[in-house]
Amino acid sequence: MKLVYSIPVLLILIVSLVTIKNCRSSNDSVVFKKNIATTSDCVFCKIATHLEPAKVIAGNDDVIVFESIHPRYPSHWLIIPKKHITDLKSAQPEDTLLLGKLLAAAGALGRQLESPGAFNIQINEGAQAGQTVFHLHLHFYSQSKLTTQSPKI
Ligand code: 5GP
Ligand code: ZN
Repeated sequence: MKLVYSIPVLLILIVSLVTIKNCRSSNDSVVFKKNIATTSDCVFCKIATHLEPAKVIAGNDDVIVFESIHPRYPSHWLIIPKKHITDLKSAQPEDTLLLGKLLAAAGALGRQLESPGAFNIQINEGAQAGQTVFHLHLHFYSQSKLTTQSPKI
């Protein structure tokens, strides 16, 4: 008689444990650090939270700039929001100020380049346009190098 009762109890226990485990793993993908949402499987989020090494050029509360792992110019940097935004199409109205800060960072870096300080900004939006990392980033390309070792943005 006792065995008849214990089998359903055991089944309920197993189902509950599996449900709890699944809930945990789905929540794990979004991590809030200093109120900035990052995604645990995104390499740029890992760089922004120092979980992955990168040659960091500059940063502030909202933006980080680091060298591309495969630089194609004397200065080839990636300007990213610390908050995970997949691409421009995913950006929300509340991200407008943040999007402006990415361009402001580019301008600040441009002012700290050796003469003539010319540069290009490029965004590859979508896989068909060449996007390979799905965390919004501006490519900053320049033939000029920095005038300082610790640029400010
Ligand atoms: P996309 O093709 O998405 O526009 O550009 C991705 C950029 O990120 C490329 O310049 C690529 O070399 C760079 N990149 C990809 N993975 C890493 C990485 O783990 N670390 C750094 N520093 N750059 C990366
Ligand atoms: Zn990310």
